[in-house]
Amino acid sequence: MNKTPVFVLLGLMTVNAFGSDTDIFTYRLGRFDVYTLVENRGPGRDSVLIGASAEAVRRYLGSSFQSETNTFLIRAPDRTVLVDTGFGTTLFESMKSLGVDPAKIDAVLLTHMHGDHIGGLQKDGKPLFPNAKVYLARQERDYWTRTNMNRGAVNALAAYEGKVETFLPGELGSAIQELLPGIRAIAAFGHTPGHTVFQVESDGKRLLIWGDLMHVEGIQFPLPDVSVTYDTDPQAAAAVRKRILAYAVSNNIPIAGMHLVYPAIGSVRAQDGGYRLVPAE
Ligand SMILES: [Zn+2]
Repeated sequence: MNKTPVFVLLGLMTVNAFGSDTDIFTYRLGRFDVYTLVENRGPGRDSVLIGASAEAVRRYLGSSFQSETNTFLIRAPDRTVLVDTGFGTTLFESMKSLGVDPAKIDAVLLTHMHGDHIGGLQKDGKPLFPNAKVYLARQERDYWTRTNMNRGAVNALAAYEGKVETFLPGELGSAIQELLPGIRAIAAFGHTPGHTVFQVESDGKRLLIWGDLMHVEGIQFPLPDVSVTYDTDPQAAAAVRKRILAYAVSNNIPIAGMHLVYPAIGSVRAQDGGYRLVPAE
């Protein structure tokens, strides 16, 4: 290693001493390494909340809270997988510091197709992961390319023409076939029509990479009925959020989230009729 990041804690903000936003957390999952790659962080806005009283906002969030955008990199013995790409800002720098060449990414799994999850897929029509296949739920592809005709989604998929694999996510609690060795796709529709949670498993250890099941953890763990304006269907989003939280607790499966704050991986505990997160160390 030619440089050793030194982190300075300033309240809730972790500032990389090299002056970039890059933060990387390493989580060992059986024979896999899962890395949280922080793409972006800054103050969040409580105006995005749906169904939170002013009193609850004061109680759980106070006057300000932090928001993050993360991606997760999975290094398995036989392949390297990226789950979402963030905006594509510091992702490539983070990968470089881990010694991961974008050309060596075998698969990019998408939880959904919002810009903060697919922004790093392509530039000027060229795939930034030239040897990767892109995996996403068929419902998600169809929504953005046939119903909504979102340019960003259309362009991202066009850059990977012939290398896009769609799948039908399985229902929680049913037997779900593996999408890739150790990786299963679980239906978590609500945030978007094809929003997918990925369950990663190695040597009997499991992790749920839950995409945008939650955006404002300070209030949505204790009050999981609270949704956000980014949710396509806020009611469905709340219902699936509660199902997956209950599943994580009852099966003792840690979770990772694209908008949880660093390390953005932890264990969920039931508390006072809601939940809380115990961050991984
Ligand atoms: Zn998002």
